[in-house]
This record gives sequence, structure tokens and C-alpha cells, in this order.
Amino acid sequence: MAVKKVLKYGEKSLREPSKEVHKVSKKITELVQDLLDTMYAQNGVGLAAPQIGQNLRVFVIDVSSNNEPLSPMVFINPKIIKKSGGVIVEEGCLSFPEAYANVKRYKNVMVKAMDVHGKTFVTEAKDGSLLARAIQHENDHLDGILFIDHCVNRFEMDSILEQHHLPPVEPDRLLDEPEIENALENKENND
Ligand code: ZN
Repeated sequence: MAVKKVLKYGEKSLREPSKEVHKVSKKITELVQDLLDTMYAQNGVGLAAPQIGQNLRVFVIDVSSNNEPLSPMVFINPKIIKKSGGVIVEEGCLSFPEAYANVKRYKNVMVKAMDVHGKTFVTEAKDGSLLARAIQHENDHLDGILFIDHCVNRFEMDSILEQHHLPPVEPDRLLDEPEIENALENKENND
């Protein structure tokens, strides 16, 4: 149980797909604790296992604010089972220190996962809430997808990355997101 080093954009683990967890063993509960310790040490809202160099399908989130008690959420083998709507929001990532940019996200998601006791749960996050966005962001990490792949403007993204001495966008990684684009165009219909 320790605070780990968070890998920065450019390091290989961040682009590698992660493996399913077969059993919530001691190794996994220790990984969860390391993720929580590291996320809190960095004042992050979420952290995924590949960000500390472990390509396993595990992430943690805590969307409580400063004056609220901690409320850690653990997601093992998560699957987004429903998604709808669209929002454009400014986002950052602990693997991209101090770089923030506008990205496209679904507004509502439903996710199924296992908790740290190996129990399956389903949770829903709506209205482009911090939780809804964090679930999508962290879940992407498990497939080697990064928030910059969802950027609204590639050139703006590149200049932000350059300012923070990070490598540029990889054009072939940019995502085509027609469902989100359509939802954004038909705002009145996406609730
Ligand atoms: Zn991230």
C-alpha cells in the first residue's frame, strides 16, 4: 500500500489494453489500495491501473469535494452497458500534468462492474456529471484510450500539449464520435 509514480503521456503502459481480473485476490486489493493512495496524494478524481504501470482492468474514482467525507468507488472489470447524449467539457488527467482541454463525452452512462469484494454492481451517472465523465475517462484508460483522443480541436490540443512539454496528438488515435456529435446537434432531444 503506497503512493505510486503516475506514468506520463508517452509511456507505453498508457497505450496498452488491460487484462480482465479473474479473481479479486490479495494482489488486486493491494492494487486498489495503491490506486486510492496515489489518487488522493495527487488530488485526482480518478485513477486507472495502467497509469501506475499495471495493465489490469481496475480503476478508482472519488468525486467527493474538499469539505465532504471521502467516498471511494472501485470498479473491477467494468463495462459501460448504456450511454446516451453528449457534452463538451474541459478535462484533465493525472498522466498529463496541468494540461486541460475540451473533449466530447456521453452525457449519461450506466456501468456494470465488480467491487473490491468481488460483488457485481450497476451504477448510473447522468447529466454530464463529474461521475459520468470520470467513468468514461477511467474506463478508456483500460483500452489504451486517452482523453486527448476525444479532443474537440486537434490543433488546440497539440498546442496545449506542447506548452506542457508532452508529445503531440497521434492523429490515427483520434476518435470518430458520431453518436455524441448527433446528440450535441439535437440538444433538445438528448435527455
Ligand atoms: Zn486519465
